[in-house]
Amino acid sequence: MDRFVTFLRRQLDIDLELLRVARQDAETGAAHACLITPIRGFRECELKSRLLSTHHHCGTGGGPCDELGESYPPEDERGCPTRALLGLPYADRPGYIARWRP
Ligand SMILES: [Zn+2]
Repeated sequence: MDRFVTFLRRQLDIDLELLRVARQDAETGAAHACLITPIRGFRECELKSRLLSTHHHCGTGGGPCDELGESYPPEDERGCPTRALLGLPYADRPGYIARWRP
């Protein structure tokens, strides 16, 4: 399970770095067309990070989805459906494993 969470945290770090560069480009006038503003991207990263923290222990017996009976068995690295969905935007990134798909 740690490998999946590590992958997700890494993807959020990559997104945050890309957003920082986009924001810096915008501030220095080197901006190029972007469909999502950096501020929205930062908010989305915060949302994903908070959800991941809330569901951090799902699948270990101590998460909210464990209490609801919705978590995955311990051998499933995804932990719960919410965590699996958090990984979906990164399905095309190196390191994503096909069986992690929700
Ligand atoms: Zn959960």
